[in-house]
Amino acid sequence: MKTYLFHKISDDYSDSWTVSNTFFREFIKKKVESGITFISESEVSKKHICNDENIALLHFDDGYTLNRKSYDYLIQLKIPFTVFIVAGLMGDWNRWDFSKELPVFSLMDVNEIKEMNSVENVTIASHTMSHTSLVTLEERRVFTELKRSKDVLENLLEQEVKYISYPYGDYNQISLENSKKAGYSRAYVVELRNSVKQGLELFGMVRDEIREN
Ligand SMILES: [Zn+2]
Repeated sequence: MKTYLFHKISDDYSDSWTVSNTFFREFIKKKVESGITFISESEVSKKHICNDENIALLHFDDGYTLNRKSYDYLIQLKIPFTVFIVAGLMGDWNRWDFSKELPVFSLMDVNEIKEMNSVENVTIASHTMSHTSLVTLEERRVFTELKRSKDVLENLLEQEVKYISYPYGDYNQISLENSKKAGYSRAYVVELRNSVKQGLELFGMVRDEIREN
């Protein structure tokens, strides 16, 4: 199983975390034509994770409003996908990029998130409360970032939130253990930067970050 990760899709702006609409649609088209089936998080089984090369997940981190057109495109094609929401910044903007002097991008608000969640095969998941790198925090705060974001989203959506992706893909043993402790079923990273202990494999699931350049 492969997991493809996108952040922003836009024709008006370009950086390492942004791909154009044309690139995105071509990417999806090529995957489908090559026999890849996109499935939703709830359809993932052990068999898929271990060795099914024709199965893929589609992920969007951060929950940018400007991806709306791309989400609608996928919904139209009935392609499942997952959006990882920064639960403490709903309806706000990418505050974590502030110090890097990056442009401001709005994040989906509670109504947009609820609406997306009501679409079949769209999964809303957590991307922590504040988008702070978990490896910079003491364990008590790591747990809070994981657990509170889960609680906030569950209260909003009135259903269980089972998946999380770590901001910047940063994680260590404490992040993995606390994701399990907070009650998640799976946690996603970008690449394996640290070893993942036996028994915690589902909390360090690797994704392919898709870049245009
Ligand atoms: Zn992020």
